[in-house]
Amino acid sequence: MKILAIESSCDEFSISIIDDGKILSNIISSQIEQHVNFGGVVPELAARLHLENISWVIKAALESSNTKIEEIDYVAYTEKPGLIGSLIIGKLVAETIASYIDKPLMPLHHIEGHIYGASIENEFIYPVLAMVVSGGHTQIEIINSPNDFKIIGATLDDAIGECYDKVARVMGLGYPGGPKIDKLAKEGNKDAFVFPIPKNDESYDFSYSGLKTAVINIIHNLTQKGETIPVADVAASFQYTATKIIEKKLEKAINEFKPKTLTVAGGVSANSEIRNIVLSLGEKYNISNTFVPKMEYCTDNAAMIAKLAYEKLKISN
Ligand code: ATP
Ligand code: MG
Ligand code: FE
Repeated sequence: MKILAIESSCDEFSISIIDDGKILSNIISSQIEQHVNFGGVVPELAARLHLENISWVIKAALESSNTKIEEIDYVAYTEKPGLIGSLIIGKLVAETIASYIDKPLMPLHHIEGHIYGASIENEFIYPVLAMVVSGGHTQIEIINSPNDFKIIGATLDDAIGECYDKVARVMGLGYPGGPKIDKLAKEGNKDAFVFPIPKNDESYDFSYSGLKTAVINIIHNLTQKGETIPVADVAASFQYTATKIIEKKLEKAINEFKPKTLTVAGGVSANSEIRNIVLSLGEKYNISNTFVPKMEYCTDNAAMIAKLAYEKLKISN
């Protein structure tokens, strides 16, 4: 059974082909370079660039997987959430292909896709506890099947990825800031600055606006005094606090929900400290099925949508 999946919710246009659970191709056209000058993703530009990338991405996905379009049994695509102009393009491409080959369409959820990106290289044993850390989301989900996702805590203000990107922008590191801060943090002293950890211990919800403001204030104060900003120390102290928030909530959720699988998903799951935290919590609580996604499946990609589609179909037959 072959599925063609499309992901286009933000600034990546990606097509993947999966055959009985095995990823045959995962072509990603990224637009980072075109958005860098604006300090972030410009929605109108993202949609226009998707239009330019459709043809070659489809071709590359089919050719590199040695697949003819007629061999596809299902067409999956990201229905929501995301930038509307970007989403519409993915939906139209999916509908066009599905109607041409007369095969069913599967509209899927982007975040559920991120979660299944973690299961491409490792099988889930349910219930799964997934820490979702991405550009627009910070949430903990309990997954009982590919059709049963429970959000037990979510973003109250800024998402963790957004916070990384904004802090990086103020530090003059450019877009996207997450990977740059992660790298710099390794050279800095995490105890150089003490940033606040939100006190909402009884809840699983996440707040990052206080941390963002605290870091921005320090940078502005140092700049006003004419002092050079110790970027590596700021990055290390920020990363320590941003990931400590994740660790605390995740540990609480592990104790309450006693999952059989522990994992992390979304673009920020590429973060070295978050990967360490998840793996050490899995070890501490003896959750043998603990894993982090392969780097290629952390930020937006169509393979994760293909895998979600495959897992949904597997249990419907
Ligand atoms: P969402 O999935 O919530 O709709 P999105 O699709 O825009 O949002 P993703 O592509 O999942 O977001 O993730 C992009 C985010 O991941 C960016 O904020 C980027 O800075 C962040 N990121 C990538 N690598 C790292 C890293 N090593 N450390 C921290 N953040 C990272
Ligand atoms: Mg992106
Ligand atoms: Fe995403």
